[in-house]
Parts: sequence; structure tokens; C-alpha cells
Amino acid sequence: MKTLEKLSSAQLIEMEDKHGAHNYHPLPVVLERGEGVYVWDVEGKKYYDFLSAYSAVNQGHCHPRIVDAMVNQARTLTLTSRAFHNNVLGQFEKYVTEYFGFDKILPMNTGAEAVETAIKLCRKWAYEKNGIPENEANIIVCENNFHGRTTTIISFSNDENARKNFGPYTPGFIKIPYNDIEALEKALAEENVAGFMVEPIQGEAGVYVPDDNYLSEAKELCKASGVLFIADEVQTGIARTGKLLAVDHEEVEPDILILGKAISGGVYPVSAVLANDTVMGVIKPGQHGSTFGGNPVGAAVAMAALEVVKDENLAEKAEELGQFFRDEIHKLVAKYPIVKLVRGKGLLNAVVINDSEESETAWNICLKLRDNGLLAKPTHGNIIRFAPPLVMTKDELIDCISIIDKTLAEF
Ligand SMILES: *Cc1c(COP(=O)(O)O)cnc(C)c1O
Repeated sequence: MKTLEKLSSAQLIEMEDKHGAHNYHPLPVVLERGEGVYVWDVEGKKYYDFLSAYSAVNQGHCHPRIVDAMVNQARTLTLTSRAFHNNVLGQFEKYVTEYFGFDKILPMNTGAEAVETAIKLCRKWAYEKNGIPENEANIIVCENNFHGRTTTIISFSNDENARKNFGPYTPGFIKIPYNDIEALEKALAEENVAGFMVEPIQGEAGVYVPDDNYLSEAKELCKASGVLFIADEVQTGIARTGKLLAVDHEEVEPDILILGKAISGGVYPVSAVLANDTVMGVIKPGQHGSTFGGNPVGAAVAMAALEVVKDENLAEKAEELGQFFRDEIHKLVAKYPIVKLVRGKGLLNAVVINDSEESETAWNICLKLRDNGLLAKPTHGNIIRFAPPLVMTKDELIDCISIIDKTLAEF
């Protein structure tokens, strides 16, 4: 194995800058170790992780049960491709479908691939089961969505930065405002609508929580129109918002459920699309797939990661700690004019900074939070997302709130 050199943060950042594509703008901190809610940088400074790799690390960094599952499987069998069966896939598929209450799963690797899978599935179902003329299917999506980075997915983004100069774009999407039932009703009345794809909370956009009943009303409208309700729970799923799924807050059952990120506890890329037989049945051999999708390592890791969520009651923890967090941050909003409001569900929260969208204030606050031992990152506009691993204790959270308090006092 090529041994890693011991380099400083500054040297490592310079190396990335010189040799890597500049497709991200990371906070200047270089991490080398993680355990539970903590990460350490190369100089040995310890931080609370308040991003959890965009909610992929809900179970905490390097959870021993998940890492053991990976190491054991990696020593035994890593990849067969789907050209052959393996002894893990079927057990994984049984476990996950029972866990979430669907007939079938289609395993992929990244969130974007699962979104692509859901789009293909929805279209195929529309042509073969719903009488929509070939190549005419439309899928309704929401403004300010984030569903990933493929060419098709950015085709229906309205983030100019994500979209511009990547055209020509994939047609077949109708964009409506988020959290607007009337707009959905109108769009559903258009011709050849096959599905409505929605994030139960818009995470990347800045943790926008829709009105109570938005999701259940949307689902009802879709059902009445014979249109598939597709929930992208890549970020909101797996206990993050205080329930196993964010749609569970309104007892909505999606026709297609998209999962990623925390389904593997951030240990290995695993994503999944779940649906019942009437929908999933339209996919036949050769029509969709992935070399790594459903591989034994990913399958073993995902089973362990989902077991941890249940055994450690992470959904209940997220609900309880999230409520406490927002109550405490409300007090800081009253105390410091620099923060405008806090919103969220469970442990997916955001604080809106009281400054213009173009200002650097949120970024500067994140730099100070880092100096004070807590890592968070601004999202669109002047918003800081706060999403720690769900394995956090109340005492640790209290410690984090005092770091946030102390940091805001410096502004
Ligand atoms: C992160 C995310 C994706 C894309 O997942 P990748 O693994 O980055 O491809 C899709 N949808 C939502 C809601 C996400 O948060």
C-alpha cells in the first residue's frame, strides 16, 4: 500500500487545489479521523461534525457495527456483478423491503443514480400501465429542488450554477413552486403527467419545511389523478427528521421511495429505489442496472446501518434532540440580531442569517464555528444547515449550543 505522507492542512489543501478539479468549495479544514459525533483534523484538533456528510453519517462516524460488516464482507466477497447471484443480495432485499414496507427494491450506488432510476421507472410505468403515448410522459418537480448532478437531473434544476452550459437539457419535466397545492392541482390537469417527484423537506435549498398536510394532500391529488407520488428521501430519510422517513410525519406512502446517503451510514455508497410490484414489475432484464448496484459489500453495510438505526432508536433521538435544539436556538435568535430564524424537523435544521443573500456572513460564521470546534456549512443563500449525527447525546448537544452561542456573540 502506498503509505500516506504526514502533511499539514495547508499543504493538503494546496495539493487538492493544484491537482483536483475545483467542483467544490470546502470549508478550510482537513479531517483525518472520525468517531461518532466527532472528527479530528490533521493537526489533531477535535470538532463536532454538524453536517454529517449531508446526512449520510446519521449513525455517527465509523460506527463499529457498520465498519465490521464492511470489513468482514470485504474479506469474503466484494463484487460479482449482477451476472451471477451472491449470497447477500437476496437477504438484503428481503430485509430492506420488509423494513420500509414495499414489495421490491432496486439497488444502486449514489443518490443521483437512484433518482435517475425512479425517473426511468416512472416513465416506463406510464407508457406500459397508464396509457401515456410514448415519449410524452411528464414528471412534475418543484422549484429549488435538489435531486443530484446528472444531465437529466440538472435539466429540471433552477439553480443556474448547477445548470448553465450543461445543456441541451432533458425534456419532460413540469416545474411548480414547492409547498403549493394549487399549483400541483393545476399541473396534474396537464396532459400526460406520469409522476410528481418531491423532497419531503427541501434540504439543499435551505431546509424548507412545507406546511402541515402538504405531502398528504399532494399524495391524495396524485392518487386521484392516477399519477405516481415519488418521494426523494435521500437526505430526509433514515431517521434524520425524527421519523424513519419524513413522509411518516404525515403517514404518506409514496409509490416510489428514493433512498441514499444514510442507508449505508456513510460507510459505502449505497442507494435504493423501493416500489410495489405493479410499478417495479415494468423493469425487465437488460433494461436497467449498475455493475456495483447491490454488491455484497454495499448490501452487508446497508443492513448493518439500518439495524443500528432501529437498535439505537435514532428516529426517536432525532425527534427529541431536534425539538430541544430548536427551542434553544430560538433563544439565540431573540438574543442576537445576526440570526433571523431557525427551522427544521428532527435534527435537520437551518438557521437563517440576517444579512443579504450575497454577503459572506454565513461563511464567516462557519469559519468562526470551526475555530470554536464545530463544523457546519452554509447552504443556498445566507443559511447555515445544522445536521449533527443522530447518535449525539443531550450533553453533547448542550455543549454544541454553547459553541454556537459563543460564536454568534462574536458577530
Ligand atoms: C444528496 C442528494 C441527492 C444526490 O445524492 P448523491 O449521492 O450525491 O448523488 C439526491 N437527492 C437529495 C434530496 C439529496 O439530498
